[in-house]
Amino acid sequence: MQNRDAVFLEDLCPKLRDRCWRQSLHNFTGRKCIYCGNTSESIDHVIPCSKGGLSVTDNCVPACLSCNGSKTDIEVFSWYRQQTFYDPRRAMAVRAWIDGDRRLAMRLLQWAEPKTNQPAKGLYKLQNLDFDLETAA
Ligand SMILES: [Zn+2]
Repeated sequence: MQNRDAVFLEDLCPKLRDRCWRQSLHNFTGRKCIYCGNTSESIDHVIPCSKGGLSVTDNCVPACLSCNGSKTDIEVFSWYRQQTFYDPRRAMAVRAWIDGDRRLAMRLLQWAEPKTNQPAKGLYKLQNLDFDLETAA
C-alpha cells in the first residue's frame, strides 16, 4: 500500500520531466546547435516523429530554430550535406550522438568550434619553414 501511495513529482508533472530532459540535451552541447553551432533553441528529432522517430535522447539533438525548420522531414545527413555550414566533424558528432556515444559527440563538437582551429596556424608556419629549407638548398 505504501508503494502505491508514493507520489513522485515527475509523475505528477510530466511537463517538468520533459523540460529537465530537454535542458540536459542542451547542456551536452553548451546550448549550441549540433548542426551549425548557433544557439540551440529547440530539440530536433533526427528521425522525424512523422517517420516513427522517438522522443528519446539518441534521436533528439539540440538545434537552432533555423536548422530545425529547414530540415523538416528530410533524412538528416542528406539535408546536412546540402547546407553551407556543413562540417564533417559535426556530421560525425550527429552520428556519434544517435549511436549513443555522447562523449565522442561532444569531443567532435569541441573540435569543430572555431577557437580550436588555431593549430592550423602552426601547420602553416611549418609549411613555410619547409619552403624556406627548400629554397635554401
Ligand atoms: Zn543550427
